[in-house]
Amino acid sequence: MAEAPRIHLASRNAKKLAELERILTEHLPGVAVLGLDDVAGYDEPVEDAATFAGNALLKARAGAAATGLPTLADDSGLCVDALNEMPGVLSARWSGPPKDDARNNRLLLDQLSDVPDDRRGAHFRCAVALVVPGGVEQVVEGRMDGRIAREPRGTGGFGYDVLFEADERPGATTAELTVAEKDAISHRGKALRELAPRLPGLLAGRGEER
Ligand code: IMP
Repeated sequence: MAEAPRIHLASRNAKKLAELERILTEHLPGVAVLGLDDVAGYDEPVEDAATFAGNALLKARAGAAATGLPTLADDSGLCVDALNEMPGVLSARWSGPPKDDARNNRLLLDQLSDVPDDRRGAHFRCAVALVVPGGVEQVVEGRMDGRIAREPRGTGGFGYDVLFEADERPGATTAELTVAEKDAISHRGKALRELAPRLPGLLAGRGEER
């Protein structure tokens, strides 16, 4: 019997590991998803690219080189229309280090305090990169459109979820959705679901197969 495929996700985020395993199992039965805590330690690269795709690729390349395993990495953030698409790749530390979601959300609300309801559009973006050692590199992107609310609501999710109302779920912030409801419409879920059906071919070295 063929050995169960193993994929390394260059992340320590248990929620991301679980989400990836859920989505991949459908296409790669028995797939084992290993996180950064499951592989020998290595120097993680500084995320200094100007784009989500660039950051995802540099993390996936470093992970594949260090582990010898097919490696996935993601990079994501919030792009706000009235802020010229910022905070973008700077989302995690928008209000300065150390990373603090509540402080980031307060800063964002302050910056948008004079922005009227019809100009509060925003979207989340996520790039997922796959690097197969000695094989292909692929990047896919997903996006979730919505708007920034005037005050935080909800207790689920993370980051800017308490302020983000998705167009596909008007009236609720993404912090008020269940995990499954958010996965179904999220930037990360969309990117992973685009890549998942292509993975068996990509892992087997059939780069152009869809
Ligand atoms: P990362 O790529 O998962 O490290 O996310 C970068 C930053 O973007 C996070 O720290 C959050 O501030 C923000 N972000 C990315 N995705 C989401 C999301 O689904 N909900 C809320 N905030 C997010």
